[in-house]
Amino acid sequence: MDRTEKAVVLITGASRGIGAATAQLAASRGYAVCINFRNSRTAADALVDSIVAAGGEAIAIQADVAIEDDVVRLFEQCTALLGPVHALVNNAGVLEVQSPLATMDAARLQRVFATNVFGTMLCAREAVRRMSTSSGGNGGVIVNVSSAASRIGSPGEYVDYAASKGAIDSFTLGLSKEVGSQGIRVNAVRPGFILTDIHASGGEPGRVDRIKGSIPLQRGGDPQEVAKAILWLLSPESSYTTGALLDVSGGR
Ligand code: NAP
Repeated sequence: MDRTEKAVVLITGASRGIGAATAQLAASRGYAVCINFRNSRTAADALVDSIVAAGGEAIAIQADVAIEDDVVRLFEQCTALLGPVHALVNNAGVLEVQSPLATMDAARLQRVFATNVFGTMLCAREAVRRMSTSSGGNGGVIVNVSSAASRIGSPGEYVDYAASKGAIDSFTLGLSKEVGSQGIRVNAVRPGFILTDIHASGGEPGRVDRIKGSIPLQRGGDPQEVAKAILWLLSPESSYTTGALLDVSGGR
């Protein structure tokens, strides 16, 4: 494939859910999209096909964001195939079966933090190295996908996941100040209860339905509603916004 003239956005964990919705919306708005996935090649390829069929531009690259070598290769391949990365959406995230802290072992904590925190930081590092005007880049924008869990805490379900998202909030604030003068904006969205498969990973596919009565807007969110907020933060429409934590949580 020839390198594209379009702005390139790399979206981690984009084979389904919020990442896939963001990929589709970004392609429809003229971005060339790099869809990262870890295991779900069939879903990622199907998403590429649907974007291309609609006249957009997309590629899929396998990489586990928790593995440093994978992250470096992901950025190298994306740059080689599409051109310099202008925008990064750090969306890949995991949670594990609902349980209290008392029954969590260290291996679980390491898995959750490896993807959610270290993966986000490694991807941001690769993006900054390439985007920074101090090292010859053209600037860029990073959107981290945090969670309303960072301020709610998810007691009895997954305090480990919530704490990992708290780290994303701190990281977003710090990095935005570190690289603002290098032409890079860094923001986060904090989705609330969004209708995706992630709740099945926690052992309760119907979790959003159970909780929706406590959400001021009285419903779960669609992945597309989060994607719209992410696309706004990626766009020049948010040119003076950096270090923001944007709740997309129906008021909860
Ligand atoms: P999802 O449907 O479970 O999708 C997760 C995606 O992340 C999949 O594409 C998965 O790819 C990928 N992934 C997981 N670990 C990865 C790794 N180590 N490296 C690369 N890709 C990896 O989740 P979602 O609900 O769309 O969530 C997306 C983000 O939003 C996450 O950060 C999540 O914490 C956050 N969020 C979600 C909600 C919600 O209610 N849904 C609320 C707040 C925040 P494979 O299938 O290939 O493994």
